[in-house]
Amino acid sequence: MADEPTRLRDYGLQSERLLWPTKGPSRFEEELGTEELERALGLTTLEKAVRWAQTKSMWPDTFGLACCAIEMMSIVSSRYDIARFGMEAFRSSPRQADLLIVSGRVAHKMAEPLRQIYDQMLEPKWVVAMGVCASSGGMFNNYTILQGVDRIVPVDIYVPFCPPRPEALMEGIIRLHEAHLAGVPPAYERVGVAT
Ligand code: SF4
Repeated sequence: MADEPTRLRDYGLQSERLLWPTKGPSRFEEELGTEELERALGLTTLEKAVRWAQTKSMWPDTFGLACCAIEMMSIVSSRYDIARFGMEAFRSSPRQADLLIVSGRVAHKMAEPLRQIYDQMLEPKWVVAMGVCASSGGMFNNYTILQGVDRIVPVDIYVPFCPPRPEALMEGIIRLHEAHLAGVPPAYERVGVAT
């Protein structure tokens, strides 16, 4: 008999392997075979159902900083169609947003407002650093630009390139969904929030 899948990555959830190599089912789940049971009978746990629902309604905050923001805006267009994930509702209030896409370089004068927006978002919340500028300062290695937004907010996903095409941002969002479905906690739980 072929080996039965025992880990989420066996079902194609690559992010679990990439982001959390040691994560897998507990000993109790292994003995009970819950993954197999769920697959066969269509059962799930409330926790997993909530995580699934959250990935289908992850509303981004309306927040753009520089050239990357133009690429970010296009993900709501019919060509990229982020509505298929229930994410087309960019919210103007951080209290109604779950996802902060930091799209562009962060000048020091924008660091405080950005952090304020992050603090006003309700939990659970996620952060995507879009592009090399948001991720590390990029080519702007100077006194005006924050050298990586993860100095002020915990980042869940880094999207490379300058600028990342909308496809790259979509890839990052899909990886974020996979990680959340696999049970990987948001970055603020894993790495904490700078004070
Ligand atoms: S990564 Fe490139 S496109 Fe994005 S903000 Fe920086 S310079 Fe602009």
